[in-house]
Amino acid sequence: MKDCKWYPLCPMKRFFTEGRLGKEWIEQYCKGDWESCKRYHMEEKGEPHPDWMLPNGTIDENLLNLNRRL
Ligand code: SF4
Repeated sequence: MKDCKWYPLCPMKRFFTEGRLGKEWIEQYCKGDWESCKRYHMEEKGEPHPDWMLPNGTIDENLLNLNRRL
């Protein structure tokens, strides 16, 4: 199975490589079932969504706060 086409640009990749996001998200969605990722479909439709929205659509305030600090 191919990785999600958005992975190189996706903030989830950045959060993961920075150690701020668990690898289970990447395995489940980005390198697995990316068709069930909410971010993927919003990207496809050009719908705006925050960088700190997880693949299942949950808004993760922890990522938001860390995002602002950087
Ligand atoms: S979070 Fe979703 S859109 Fe981003 S790379 Fe993973 S599967 Fe693709």
